[in-house]
Amino acid sequence: MEGAKATLMIGEGIEHLEFTMQLYRWQVARGKLAIFEHPVTSRGWKEECVEKAAAMKGVQRVRGHQCVYGLQVQEGLNKKPTDFLVNGESLARRLSQKCDGSHRHQHLMGGLASKAQQYPRGLCQAMVQGAAEDSAQWRSIWATEEDEAEEMEDALDRAVDQAGEPVRALGAPRDIERAGAAKGA
Ligand SMILES: [Zn+2]
Repeated sequence: MEGAKATLMIGEGIEHLEFTMQLYRWQVARGKLAIFEHPVTSRGWKEECVEKAAAMKGVQRVRGHQCVYGLQVQEGLNKKPTDFLVNGESLARRLSQKCDGSHRHQHLMGGLASKAQQYPRGLCQAMVQGAAEDSAQWRSIWATEEDEAEEMEDALDRAVDQAGEPVRALGAPRDIERAGAAKGA
């Protein structure tokens, strides 16, 4: 890849990340559950916007090994250590499962890394179960203030309109490129 194009893609990736973290902080601030996921080795974890979200009250960064959740893009399981920012105790527990060393891992080389971006079913289940448990627990602790929530939802709608891209998890470079193209148009 040419240097200029790489720089541009990194720039757009950071913009996308900043927007994602803006949403993350908004979600946490209004007392709702939020999950952010990135590979352990990602430079994104060093970005100020991510650190800011990680420092919010109630947010913790946990690490899980994706082999536990069934990540397998070829014959062997893939460990793919992944960190999550979560603000619920059940989410933290369910997403921080570590490999017990009972199997061999296949390294994610070449084209395998992009295939491993898709969440294995077990990871989706862990997210849904963790969120359901935390949400049930939170509901029993406090009630949300409807007016404030509506006000914030309007603010989110505006932010999404401005970005020209629906809210999604950080994904493939083509999402980042599309967001950049929409912005530049
Ligand atoms: Zn493993």
